[in-house]
Parts: sequence; C-alpha cells; structure tokens
Amino acid sequence: MEIREKFLPYAEPYWDKEELEKITKTIESNWWSKGPQTQEFEKQFAEFVGAKYAIAVNSCTAATHAILATKNLQPGDEVIVPAMTFCSTANVVVHCGATPVFADVDERTGLIDPQSILAHITDKTRGIIPVHYSGQACDMDVINAIAKEHGLFVVEDAAHAVYTTYKGKMVGGLGNPTAFSFYVTKNLATGEGGMITTDDEELADLLRVYTLHGMNRNAWNRYGKGGTWRYDVVTFGFKYNMTDIQASLGLSQLKKLPMMQEMRERYAKKYNEAFQNLPGIGLMDQMDYGRNAWHLYILRIEDLKIDRDQFIEELKALNIGTAVHFIPVHMHPIYRETFHTKEGDCPVAEKLFSQIISLPMNPSMTESDIDYVIQAVKYLAGKYAK
Ligand SMILES: *Cc1c(COP(=O)(O)O)cnc(C)c1O
Repeated sequence: MEIREKFLPYAEPYWDKEELEKITKTIESNWWSKGPQTQEFEKQFAEFVGAKYAIAVNSCTAATHAILATKNLQPGDEVIVPAMTFCSTANVVVHCGATPVFADVDERTGLIDPQSILAHITDKTRGIIPVHYSGQACDMDVINAIAKEHGLFVVEDAAHAVYTTYKGKMVGGLGNPTAFSFYVTKNLATGEGGMITTDDEELADLLRVYTLHGMNRNAWNRYGKGGTWRYDVVTFGFKYNMTDIQASLGLSQLKKLPMMQEMRERYAKKYNEAFQNLPGIGLMDQMDYGRNAWHLYILRIEDLKIDRDQFIEELKALNIGTAVHFIPVHMHPIYRETFHTKEGDCPVAEKLFSQIISLPMNPSMTESDIDYVIQAVKYLAGKYAK
C-alpha cells in the first residue's frame, strides 16, 4: 500500500482559536493560579456529570492521592485495583502507606472482574478503585454492592471516562468520589489537570484543604481583595490545585465535548465495521448499560503470523503511531520487588496485554486519517494472515 507522508501520532489535543482567546484573557487578567476560571470550571464540570461538588486539581494522580489521603490508610491495609491500569492507580495506594492488591479483568472488556475483587478481599481490605477502562463504565451496581457488604470504600478512576454513562447517569455522578484526568492525550485536555467529583459536602471541604497544603478554606484567595493573610494549616496537605491557565483550556474543551464525543463515536463505528470480521483480529465487547467515551480504540492481535509487538512496528513503518494500554501494573519491576507480584497473578490481564494495541482515535483526526488506519490494518491482517 502507499505510505502516507506525515506521521499520524497516536494522540493529539483538539483545539481552535477559542482556547487561544480564553488563555490570552486569563494571562491578561494576571490571575494565573487558582482563581475565577478554576471556580467556573469546577461549577460547570459538576453540572456536566451531575455531581454536587467538583474540586479541580493538577492531575488524576493528584485526585486519587488526595481522596485516598482522607481515608486514613494504615500500613498493612489493602486496596484492590485492577491489574489493567496505569501505574498511577496503584502508586497512590503505596504513597498512602497501604498495599495495592491486583484484581484481574474481564477478557471481553478489560474492566475489573467483580469475581476477582471478591477473591482478593481479606480482613485487611479497605477499599476498591475500579477503573472505567478505555471509556466504558465498570458494572458499578455490582461493585458498590460488594463494597457495601464488606464495608469498603470505592474511589472511581475515571481517567478514560469523561462522557461515559452507566445506566443513564454520567460517570462522576454515580455517588462515589471520582477522579478524572485532563492529561493532554485524554478526552478533555488541559495539558496536565484533573478533577474530583463527589456528592459528599464534608469530603469536598476536606479535599479543598488537602489539595492546598492543608490550609483551611479559601486560602487560595488570600491575595485578593476580600481575602485575608491569616490561615491555619490543619493537615499535611499537598500542592495539587489547578491553575486558571489550565481551567481556561478546560472551559473551552468542555464546550466542545459533545462535538468531540460525536466524532469519536463516528470514528469508532467506522473502525468497528471495518475490523469486526477480520480474521486474526479481535475487538473489545461493548457493554449495553452505558455510553462508551471511546477514550481508547483497542485492537487485539489474536492470531496472525506476527505478534503484537511486530504489528506495532509494521504500523510505525506505515507512519501510524500507536500505544499499549497497559502493561499490567503487577508486572513492573518495583511491584515485583516490593509486593512480590509475578507473572501468572492476573492471567487475563497478561493475555490481553500480549494482544492489545490502541489505535489513533481522536477528534483531531480527519475521516481520511481514519480511512488510512483502516486500510493499513486490513493490509497487515491480510499480509500476515495464517
Ligand atoms: C492517565 C491515567 C491516569 C493518570 O492521569 P494523570 O492526570 O496523568 O495523573 C490514571 N489512571 C488511568 C487509568 C489513566 O489512564
């Protein structure tokens, strides 16, 4: 096939002059850190997901860390996380002095398997962090019921799930504290950034303190008129607040979200139709209980003459960038060394890992970019068919 000239990156942010105008205004306002734009973004995001409170932070990692920090975890306490996630979901458990325990995932979706959660609950288990992997919601009724029965907290990792719904409700508004990511590759991008949503007023107040050095309320406004220089430090908090520069991007992106989601859905449909009957290639199943935010479009190399690694190299040679989400966390050296995890602990996640590729999938792509990826995948699947 004819190779395109320009490299197609796996992910790029989508923006136009509105982002530029909004960020310029913020710079001109001289309010560069947390201020009115961040407050407005929090308000609009809370409304968007249907949560009572939203606290803007500088990453999803900061969001999950701050939420866990309010749980008073003790050494020896265990928190169950899926093996198929970004290291950050498990790292923050370690930062809170507790032990991450890896549950396996469902092979059809990559979502945490409730049976595996049950199998890993001990008398030391304190909580569960389900990850709405790739943009599909976990079956939260099942997970919430398990948590309730065993007295566990639930924190939702929604890094992939801006716009995901579960049984008619938006993720972030399902009742558990939820952490979003606005990292540059995510569905809503502010470069670096994140958001916590919750319906719990007490927790929201606590998180505002935890994400700003442990200083008591409204300390962010201490240099404005109506602010005060006086504050108390009431806990050992973190410097995790969002800035107005990021929030300006967030506000512009939030407005574009319905349009960006529509494009993702259209592109996913094209990919699905092209790949669903391709021999040797597999796709992930779609759950019918909610909307997929299509953060990732995952292709499974199941049975070709070349393996997943070689398929990635072949796509690269055709000028297509890809990614792999994820290397199961329990397989990373520091987890093996510290928590004695090993290959075989989560066989489904490990099998999936050996097969998966995340194809380019974002609204900055054109229809012809999508067509090119389709052409390339079909070409390689044919060339290396068994
Ligand atoms: C990206 C990602 C994170 C971390 O997000 P940051 O905003 O970069 O901290 C956490 N969990 C998952 C599943 C992710 O994909």
